[in-house]
Amino acid sequence: MNITCDCGAFVARLESFPKHTPGRLVCYCDDCQAYVKKIKCSDVLDDYGGTEVIPAYPKEVEIVQGLDQLKCYRLSEHGTYRWATSCCNSPILNTRPGFPWAGILHTAYTRRNPTALSPLGEVKSRIYGKYALPGAPFRISNTIGFRDMLVVMPFILKGKILGMGKESPFFGPDNSTPLCVPELLP
Ligand SMILES: [Zn+2]
Ligand SMILES: [Zn+2]
Repeated sequence: MNITCDCGAFVARLESFPKHTPGRLVCYCDDCQAYVKKIKCSDVLDDYGGTEVIPAYPKEVEIVQGLDQLKCYRLSEHGTYRWATSCCNSPILNTRPGFPWAGILHTAYTRRNPTALSPLGEVKSRIYGKYALPGAPFRISNTIGFRDMLVVMPFILKGKILGMGKESPFFGPDNSTPLCVPELLP
């Protein structure tokens, strides 16, 4: 499976899709909403302010082309590293050094391959509904519920055991220095 920016200048390959992913997840938290609004990409949100991500292991993301197009943003000094591209301003994924989780935005799968997510079926978990816009016709956990934990914990535990948070292509050899200096969003 390849993920791309909207224009196709940036391409990365996912080694084990759809085997290694917890599936389609949607986060309605204020940080995810603020981030895409600040970089003027709120068209990636669903009607209730949700950001859909389909996680992969960082170790299994291989950047094929467009490394020089990557930009890094953070909402605070301790925030998640949020990667987007400079070519066409596409948000790509959110990650943290060492953690076996690359939260790849749905649009990176589907903008150039509309059926890419079909093998995954329905959304498995929706979290942080307390920040969602009202009126959603589906269930959203207020924060993170037990069922949401059940969806992601096997993926995270397996990732920790297998060291899938290491060798991330978004950080240097020390696995903590990001490829480029993050821009702190005000
Ligand atoms: Zn692009
Ligand atoms: Zn979020």
